[in-house]
Amino acid sequence: MMTWMLATHNKHKIEEIAWALHGIVEVKGVESIGFTTPIEENGHTLEENALLKAEAVYTHCPGSPVLADDSGLEVEALDMAPGVYSARWAGEPADSGRNIDKLLGLLDGQENRSARFRTVLCAIYRGEAHYFTGIVEGHICTERRGKSGFGYDPVFIPNGYPCTFAEMDLAEKNQISHRARAIQAFVECLKNQWNNLPNR
Ligand code: IMP
Repeated sequence: MMTWMLATHNKHKIEEIAWALHGIVEVKGVESIGFTTPIEENGHTLEENALLKAEAVYTHCPGSPVLADDSGLEVEALDMAPGVYSARWAGEPADSGRNIDKLLGLLDGQENRSARFRTVLCAIYRGEAHYFTGIVEGHICTERRGKSGFGYDPVFIPNGYPCTFAEMDLAEKNQISHRARAIQAFVECLKNQWNNLPNR
């Protein structure tokens, strides 16, 4: 089975991506190869940041396939903010609690609470960067619900579900999440275009 390096230090992302790719490809976190440097995310789009992360790791282990994810929450009533700035929206250091407080404050009294998560995966394969996108539409509830997941999960309710991402277990979130959908597109490409079938 092929091994892909995951260009993230976020243990929740590693868990979600490893779960979604289980039995298809092997994934390794960058810590396992001694890469502990924080990767500066100063791009202005999810694509730019995903590429920055993937390239930083590729430089450390040239020739190895690398997968990087950059994701953000896009809120309709806030002109699609915070988007690429989701992690540090309420200032440094990145703090999910303060980010959610800011979001709920800005949406206070707002009728339009539509939002979506968007993930861009950048895969460096045979030295070239390829992009895969996944989106999940939903809305922001008025108070935190649930303890699972990370980031904005406690206030995001995906369309067609009664609960927030933080009220779902990993398997449920991974059926429908933005990250899981981007991974599905990546797996399709692995199988159909790059001819790297599972267990080959
Ligand atoms: P990044 O892709 O690590 O830059 O993520 C940006 C930020 O978006 C994270 O710090 C979280 O606040 C938020 N985010 C990304 N993915 C998710 C998710 O699956 N659930 C909740 N928040 C997320």
